[in-house]
Amino acid sequence: MEPISPSPHASRFTPHVLEPGARLGVLGGGQLGAMFAAAARRMGYRVAVWDPDATAPGLRLADHPISRPFDDVAALDTFIRSVSAVTYEWENIPAATARAIEAAVPLRPSAAILATIQNRLEQKLFLSRQGIPVAPFAPVRMVEELAVSETMGYPCLCKTATSGYDGKGQWRLESPHDAKRLREELNKTASSGLWVVERFLAFEKELSVLIVRGADKEHRAYPVVENQHEAGILRVTRVPADVDRPMAERAQRIALAVVEALDGVGVFCVELFLMPDGALYVNEVAPRPHNSGHYTLDACTVSQFEQQVRVVAGAPLGEVRLLCPAVMINLIGEDVVRATSGEALSNLLRAPGAKLHLYGKGEVRPRRKMGHVTFLSEKAEDAWIAAGAFRAALG
Ligand code: AMP
Repeated sequence: MEPISPSPHASRFTPHVLEPGARLGVLGGGQLGAMFAAAARRMGYRVAVWDPDATAPGLRLADHPISRPFDDVAALDTFIRSVSAVTYEWENIPAATARAIEAAVPLRPSAAILATIQNRLEQKLFLSRQGIPVAPFAPVRMVEELAVSETMGYPCLCKTATSGYDGKGQWRLESPHDAKRLREELNKTASSGLWVVERFLAFEKELSVLIVRGADKEHRAYPVVENQHEAGILRVTRVPADVDRPMAERAQRIALAVVEALDGVGVFCVELFLMPDGALYVNEVAPRPHNSGHYTLDACTVSQFEQQVRVVAGAPLGEVRLLCPAVMINLIGEDVVRATSGEALSNLLRAPGAKLHLYGKGEVRPRRKMGHVTFLSEKAEDAWIAAGAFRAALG
C-alpha cells in the first residue's frame, strides 16, 4: 500500500476554533465594542463587554456586561472566568489588566502590542527601527525639552505620548513663541509627562488601510481609503481612495509590513500621509477596528468587526471584497440632531444608498461621535455627490 503523503497544508498551524456558544470578551463598550458585540451575537457567540462607563452602548449588547474600572481586581477575575478569548476596542487599557487577561486566555492583539502602540513615542520608535517611514520626530521627556521644536523647525506638532485621541492632547506650534507658551501651559498643568514633537507634514491626502491577520498568520488587506479630518476628528472616508493602483498597492504593502513587524494577530488600521511627491509616511497604527473602516459594514462581504470576531475565535478570516464604492460621513456632536430630526430624517432615509448608523449614546456632546451615514452607489462619483449634499446640509 502507498504511504499516505502528508498534505502540503498538514504542517500549517491550525488554531483551535471557538464555536458559536462560546463567550468572547471585549474591553471597552463604545461604538466599536458595540459593533464587535453585534457581529459576535449575529454569529452565535455570547459576549462579555467590560466598560467603566455604565452608559456605554456596548454594555446593552452584552449577555455579560461589566461596568467597573479597568483596574478592579474582582471585575478582572469575573471577566476572565466568563470568557474564552478577549479583544479590545481602544488602546488605553491598563497594561497590567491586559497582561493579566493574557495570562489566562488568548488576548488578540497581544498585551505586548498594546503596550507598544498605546505609547505614541514607543510606537514611533518601533516603526522607525523597523525601517517604516514616519514623520521626523523627537521625544520630549521634560517640558523644558520642548525647545527641541527649534531644531525640528516650524510648523511642528507636539503630541502627548499617551491617552491622546481625535486630536486631543495635540498642539500645533507655528513659532518659538508658541513653543514657549506651550511650555508655560504644560508647566502649570503637569509636572511630568512624555510628549513627541513631530514635523508637520503638508500632505496631499490622508489614507488608511485595514489589515486583518489571523493566529495562523494569514492576512487580508482591505482596499485603501481616503480620509478627511476636521479639527483632528475623522469627518469623511471615501473608498476606494482616489489614488492609482500602484500607489494603493504601495500603501497596502507598507500597512502589511507594519502588522508583520508587530507580528500582530487581530484587526489593525494603519494611517498614512501621502505627500505631493508620492512619498508615504505612517502616521499611526490602531490595534483594532477603526472609524475609517465603518464602511465595511455595508460595502464589503465581511466587515472589520466580523473579522475581529473571527480572529478572536481563531476562525478563518473572511473575504474583504468591496461590493461597491462608498462614502462615510461621521455624525459628530449636534450633527446627529440635525440629521435625524423631522424632515431631515425622512430625507436621509429616502436617499438612495444611504445607510444610517446611530450609536445609542444618551448625551450629545461637542466632538462626540454619535453615529455615521454610509452612502453606497455603483459609481464612486454618485456616492461622493450624495454624501457631499448630505454633509453640506449638516452645515
Ligand atoms: P493623530 O492623533 O496623530 O492621528 O492626528 C490627528 C490628525 O492630525 C491626523 O489625522 C492629521 O490630520 C493631523 N496630523 C497628525 N500628525 C500630523 C503631522 N505630522 N503633519 C500634519 N498633520 C498631522
